[in-house]
Amino acid sequence: MMELKNKRVLVVGLGKSGLAAAMFLRDRGARVTVSDTRSAQALAKDIPALLEAGIMVESGGHGLLTFRRQDLIVVSPGVPLTTPEVAQAIRNGLPVIGELELASRFLEGKTVAITGSNGKTTTTTLTGKIFADAGRQTLVGGNIGLPVIELIAESTPESWDVLEVSSFQLETIAEFKPHIAAVLNLTPDHLDRHGSFAQYAAAKARITENQGPEDYLVLNAEDVATQKIAGKTKAQIYWFSGRRQIKQGAFVHGESVFFTEKEGGKPEPILPVVEIGLKGAHNIENVLAAVTMARLAGISAESIRRSVASFHAVEHRLEFVRTLDGVDYFNDSKATNVDATIKAVESFPGGVHLILGGKDKDSDYTQLAGLLRERVKTVYTIGSAAEKIEHQLAGVVKIVSAKTIAVALSDASQAAVAGDVVLLAPACSSFDQFENYEHRGRVFRELVLGLKE
Ligand code: ADP
Repeated sequence: MMELKNKRVLVVGLGKSGLAAAMFLRDRGARVTVSDTRSAQALAKDIPALLEAGIMVESGGHGLLTFRRQDLIVVSPGVPLTTPEVAQAIRNGLPVIGELELASRFLEGKTVAITGSNGKTTTTTLTGKIFADAGRQTLVGGNIGLPVIELIAESTPESWDVLEVSSFQLETIAEFKPHIAAVLNLTPDHLDRHGSFAQYAAAKARITENQGPEDYLVLNAEDVATQKIAGKTKAQIYWFSGRRQIKQGAFVHGESVFFTEKEGGKPEPILPVVEIGLKGAHNIENVLAAVTMARLAGISAESIRRSVASFHAVEHRLEFVRTLDGVDYFNDSKATNVDATIKAVESFPGGVHLILGGKDKDSDYTQLAGLLRERVKTVYTIGSAAEKIEHQLAGVVKIVSAKTIAVALSDASQAAVAGDVVLLAPACSSFDQFENYEHRGRVFRELVLGLKE
């Protein structure tokens, strides 16, 4: 554990995890300063509590001097390491870590860490449920919304600390060493921050850099980019596949999910695929990853089966909202990139009315073309990406330029016939019209619930 008493620590970025880190450091006797580029006005709701705790606050920019007189710098996931003052501190040899690294040094339980481009929250939530249902003392946190720091108080040598970790959090680790780590998949995302796909993949691969032979690494056998991580680990590798039998790991064969504990061993049936409560082939992959982690933790097949069968969806992730006049409405507001939208559409055999658009992330929407032709009746575009989407998909599918979610939904509900699906899976971020994807999903859900019979 790290000694913090009287240490000078600077926390850069005052988001949820920055705030939690600052308070934690203060409680451990450190002399804490926080620095954020936002104005004092923008930070107004947090400043009084910080000052009261004896924490110094710098707002409206970072002073170079602020970065010089520190023993430790804790950067928030929202702050790029290329920020000039942070980059300079790293060059000066100051220890620069993130909240995940800081917190993990104080966690006492066994750590399970889950990363990937898509499916992290679903898999983390499901894994947490399987562990808790099996009677394990389970804590769930990280990128999922609860800072890892907040888990410290309850973490004990008996607990399983199940963490969702992002590429940004992994960029700022040093000694973080999960007992079980999983990389679900790797597709281009956040390249605006990471620079290139290679750099993004390298950040994700750091999840295993401190693992040893006593640890486990769970990887997707069908995802070429994650396969490469296998060459970088000292941990025992377990694979999962929705398509073929795996020598060591979880897979679907015929109508059931199986797990093989050791190469050459007999595959053990876990549950029939029809019992999986989540929708879509992508979610089968998430289930396989969770099954593998749970079996590695010694949880019985019977217990896993019960948990998986009773887990239906996480909010805003292919979340079923209602059926009206035979039309099913699904909220997948969290589908903020093209790959996630592909997975969402693939979950339905056809008859889809798809709401697409929001803030573009430099995406290539032509990747959707084949699937749209096959399964989508009409695309309704919204937000600032609409024009680009309409241009890229012209001639592929019927497109209605709806501008807003309300118009899109009203048009879609009028056009849809019994057996169709209305799906919000926008392939874009939400910041042009909403506070965040949760806000977008809530608005959609409210509108759907308000549709008259
Ligand atoms: P994350 O936390 O990584 O963003 P979520 O579980 O919140 O992942 O799911 C985000 C979106 O990604 C969902 O809306 C879903 O459509 C899609 N998705 C979920 N799991 C997968 C997967 N294994 N592969 C591809 N897409 C997925």
